[in-house]
Amino acid sequence: MTLALYVHIPFCVAKCYYCSFHSYAIGRENCVLKGLGQRNTLLERYVRALLQEGEKYSRSDYLAGESFNSLYIGGGTPTCLTGGQLYLLLASLRELFGISAEAEITVEANPGTLDNGKLRKLREGGCNRLSLGVQSFDPRELEALGRIHQALDVYNTFSEARKEGFTNINIDLMYGLPGQDLRQWAANLKEAVALNPEHISLYQLSLEENTPFYDLLQKGLLTEFDEDTAAGMYDLAQGYLAANGYGHYEISNYAKSGRESVHNKTYWKYGEYVGLGAGATGFFGGKRYTNHCDIHAYCDAVITDKRPVEAEEILEKRTAMAEMMFMGLRLRQGVSKKDFAERFTERIEDIFGETIKRLKSKRLLEESASHIFLSEKAIPLANMVFIEFLP
Ligand code: SF4
Repeated sequence: MTLALYVHIPFCVAKCYYCSFHSYAIGRENCVLKGLGQRNTLLERYVRALLQEGEKYSRSDYLAGESFNSLYIGGGTPTCLTGGQLYLLLASLRELFGISAEAEITVEANPGTLDNGKLRKLREGGCNRLSLGVQSFDPRELEALGRIHQALDVYNTFSEARKEGFTNINIDLMYGLPGQDLRQWAANLKEAVALNPEHISLYQLSLEENTPFYDLLQKGLLTEFDEDTAAGMYDLAQGYLAANGYGHYEISNYAKSGRESVHNKTYWKYGEYVGLGAGATGFFGGKRYTNHCDIHAYCDAVITDKRPVEAEEILEKRTAMAEMMFMGLRLRQGVSKKDFAERFTERIEDIFGETIKRLKSKRLLEESASHIFLSEKAIPLANMVFIEFLP
């Protein structure tokens, strides 16, 4: 069995106006941006707690001898940490979990929080994949989203990363932004492709509760994006990225051949993973746990030798089967019949035969000898298809 390791860094310079992720804004003065900023005791305590939590899991009976094929440091903005802290995390966790240099080792970064010194530390720690939260190349869109970076930061960071030897870079882009039209979206796609990243992730902006954007929606100062235009943007991206050599391998993800995300594929294939950090989730041995979101509660628990877990559930077999279906259907390849049978010692057809038949008759699902997958027509309706597999 191979597993994935996820590490959550819940700190950002400032909150973006649309963000409902678990992250704390700690201000420019407390984030080490491009060699600036002061060492922050909260961040230092947090890094120590992460390593202590990791050490405990690495010694657990269930994980002993298991191999990890990916490490992903996400957030928040992991690159708020100093180069030294990032190096320490990468090197120590790789040693604790026996993660080789060949594994996919990703760090998420905000353009504008990296310089060549920090990039070098990432490389020295073994990071071989960068995931850049670009979102847009348009200065007005970046400002409207509350991003801390400028378009120029993206070009500079990308070019510095290449110089430091990063040959595997992802770019996150958002569409369906307030006031955005197809022409502006096409311009963003063109800029992204011109940089020639190995991987591109696309997300439609959604207006989530407890965000400034949601407040504006409630006050009538912002409207939900028109779904037909959003669908047009999705189609435009699909055609443009395919024409430029990016395979559409997951609903929201595109990659050059062989550059699909190993880490995220573990989630979509319903593999097991260990999660470290405040608010992180882990899933192995039939159990799913979620750590305390509160940073102090998380650090206090770890440092006093307690498990920092806020909630844990043992998954019912039928629930796990449904989850494997709707995670796997996100992949264009779909759910492997063999993987399903190996996981549950039951055939996919014996559990979901009727549902699959019904969805095939509506041309929402397709089937090959080895896989069940979404039809082209079903991609915009994916959530409706997933619901059909729930117990
Ligand atoms: S940088 Fe990412 S995690 Fe941080 S506030 Fe913005 S969207 Fe949220």
